[in-house]
Order: sequence, then C-alpha cells, then structure tokens
Amino acid sequence: MAYDLGRSLHWLKTLLTEASPDALKARLAPRPGGEVKRVPGRDALDAEAIDARWALFPGDAAPARAALLDGAASDDPSRYRHHIEHFVGTVKVPVGVAGPLRVNGVHARGDYYVPLATTEAALVASYSRGALTLTEAGGCAAAVLNTGVSRAPGFAFHTIAEAGHFVGWVMSNVDTLRAVAESTTRHGKLTDVQCTIEGSSVYMVLEFTTGDAAGQNMVTLATDAVCRHVIAHAPVSPRYFFLEANMSGDKKASHQSFLHVRGRKVTAEALIPGALVAARLHTTPEGFARYWQMGAMGGVLSGTIGVQGHFANCLAALYIACGQDAACVAESAIGTTRFEVRGDDLYASVTLPNVIVGTVGGGTALPSQRACLDWLGLAGPGHANALAEVAGAMALAGELSITAALIAGHFAQAHEALARGTAPMPTTR
Ligand code: NAP
Repeated sequence: MAYDLGRSLHWLKTLLTEASPDALKARLAPRPGGEVKRVPGRDALDAEAIDARWALFPGDAAPARAALLDGAASDDPSRYRHHIEHFVGTVKVPVGVAGPLRVNGVHARGDYYVPLATTEAALVASYSRGALTLTEAGGCAAAVLNTGVSRAPGFAFHTIAEAGHFVGWVMSNVDTLRAVAESTTRHGKLTDVQCTIEGSSVYMVLEFTTGDAAGQNMVTLATDAVCRHVIAHAPVSPRYFFLEANMSGDKKASHQSFLHVRGRKVTAEALIPGALVAARLHTTPEGFARYWQMGAMGGVLSGTIGVQGHFANCLAALYIACGQDAACVAESAIGTTRFEVRGDDLYASVTLPNVIVGTVGGGTALPSQRACLDWLGLAGPGHANALAEVAGAMALAGELSITAALIAGHFAQAHEALARGTAPMPTTR
C-alpha cells in the first residue's frame, strides 16, 4: 500500500470498486487443483523436446516460433547446452557500436568501437558522443585497481562460545582451506578469508581472484569444497549451514562491495579542454561543476550508494552484447562520478568498484556474444582486465554525455527525436 493517505485511499478505492471485500478475497485466494503442465525436457535440446515446449504456447505458435526459433537459433541448439534450460529459441536484441573510445589504460589500449545491445533509443548515440569527446581529448586513462569475487557461507551454532571456537579453528587453518579451494580450479585463487560473528552465527567471506573469468561459478564450486572440508574437520559442528548466506554482494548493490571490490574495481579519468566541451557537449566546465554539485546532493537526498548518473545503461548493454551475466548490473552499477573545473578545462572521473566481467566462461563463447568480444579484440584469455577498463571508460563517456544533455537542455529533445521521432535532433555533433 502506498505510504501517504491520498494514495492509500486511491488504491483502496481501485481495489474495492471492482469487487466487494469478499469477492476480492476469493479472487486472491489460492486455486488448488487443475492440470499443472510442467515444461518438458529440462535441458534437452533435441527437436522433439523443443516442439513439446512450443506446444505450451497459448494460441497460434507459428509467428512467435518464427521469431524466436529462427534459422540461427534452430541451426544448432546444442551450442546453448550449459547456458539455458527449457530452450525455445533466442531473443534478438539490436546491437550498435559506440565510439571510437580511446582508452589509455593499464590493460586496455586502443580506439575501441564498443558493441552495446539495447532496445533503448538514444543510448548508443549518447555513449558515442561521449566516447568521441574523450577520444578528441586524447583519450581517457583507465586502471583496474583491485580484483576479487567472494562467496559467503553462513554457519549456525548454539552459542557465541561455539561460534568463537569455530572462527579460531578457521583462522588457524586458512592454508588448508586455500589448498582445498584451489584443488577445484586452475585459475581461481583464494586470496582472503574473513569471519564475521553475529550472535551464535558465523559468516565466512571467502574472496578469490578468478583469472579471466567473471568467476561466480568458480567461487561457488571452490566454496562448496571448503564447506565440505569444514564440516568434516572443524572441532565444533554447526547446527546447520548454507553455502551462501547473502553476504557476498552477489547480484545486489551493497555498501561492502562499494567500499571494497566485487569483480574488478575500475577507475577512469580525462581532462577535456573547455573548447572541446563547448564544441561537442555544448556547455562549459563550470556547467558540469554546477550540475555535479546539484546531482551529488540529489544522490545523497535519495540515498543512492555512491553518486553517478547512469552507469547501468552502458553496463547492461555491454554485458548483454558480450555474454556477461546481465543480472550483475545490480552490483556493477554503483560507484562515483566527479566533475571539476581545472583552469579552462573539465576534469572528469568515474570509479566503479564492482565491474564483474570475464572474457572466458559464462556466455562469452556463444556465437553472437563472441562476435561482440571480437569487435573489441578482447575475446578469450588475457583480456578480462582490459574489458573492465573499457567498461569503466564507457561509463565515463556516458556520464559526460548525459550530464551535457541535462545542462544544455537537450535531454528530453534527444529522446523525443530518437525514441519517438517527433522532434528534430538537437545539434550535438
Ligand atoms: P564458468 O564458465 O563456469 O567457468 C570458467 C571456466 O573457464 C572454468 O572452467 C575455468 O577453468 C576456465 N578457464 C579457462 N581459462 C581461464 C582463464 N584464463 N581464466 C579463468 N578461467 C579460465 O564461468 P564463471 O566465470 O565461473 O561463472 C560465470 C557464470 O556464473 C556466469 O554465466 C554467471 O551467470 C554464472 N553465475 C553463477 C552463479 C552461481 O552461484 N553458480 C551465480 C551468479 C552467476 P578453471 O576453473 O579450472 O580455472
């Protein structure tokens, strides 16, 4: 229910004009019985299993089937093994390239054309404008500052004393736990073990580096091995435990990950001459500083973690294009953006502590996702840090462009032009 009286009354009326309280109660009640049609064939990818699933489609399946199960999808469904269950086809998301984006990174170096998959008009155009501005300024510096992916099993004991005894044992057996964890993976390394006691419970945060993989499966399997070892050998047995007790920051924004790292912590910066700010972004460094002050305060007032404009836009589009786990945008899209006047120039920086990307594993080897990584020249081993720096640089491009649009009053007009086609495009190039 909405929290103010006016809205509460509105929603109560909406609920009750259609139905009496008893009718509403009946409508919302559980409906046991009836045929429960399960989706057939779990991970089977043969034609028979796919046909059986399409038999569930309500109404005429032919047009939907043609759209989802087109030639590329039906050609060799086995390529989706270990990527999807209950396969019925693929969704086509338009991909555009934004750039050139010159990155002078510790790992990424070059003028990148960055594939972004989205159905949102104005997104690619906006990132392209920001990227071009950065490139004309000589590019942006970018650096991975830290890496780490954690899992956080939780152990429940009867008393604080038992929990303390357990933590003491864990801390004196870290080398053994490391060996157990690393027996499950060639590239994963257990870099830290931290225990947090809460009453009679222990949260054990295991942090790993994961090579060029994003690493969530890797750390899950390694943590599972650690938990099994702990259960078998610890001098005090927990009443029960969970492999993940919701303290790792997986798939959610958290202050812990904001201050530390989840995936790769990336920062990017650029100094943009005032004349270029005027020519490309149609405003001034002072305009940026003014907006930043007001926008930072808006972030504080609304309680955001960090202060930034729209990291999620490029991260979601880049993750979808390049076979990353799109749900990780939940944790990745936090961080900070800063704009400062430096003499006649604009200093701009972004810091994203939770860029969780890989260039091997996950969806990175699927055909179209691999093709997008190939656009960047970043497919396969040895490129994950560079991909993270490109993501950070792209976030910087996006912060420049959206902020400029808001300062210059082009934000609504650009969306009207590109999303609705009902207004001329503001002069931004
Ligand atoms: P993965 O595809 O499960 O594992 C990566 C694989 O690549 C490993 O077998 C690894 O071998 C191998 N590998 C080869 N060369 C490598 C290199 N240079 N660096 C690192 N690894 C290399 O992928 P993942 O990154 O661990 O997990 C990502 C996936 O997990 C995403 O698709 C995400 O959606 C999913 N996910 C899982 C969970 C979960 O809890 N299970 C949660 C969220 C997301 P070694 O292990 O022998 O090194």
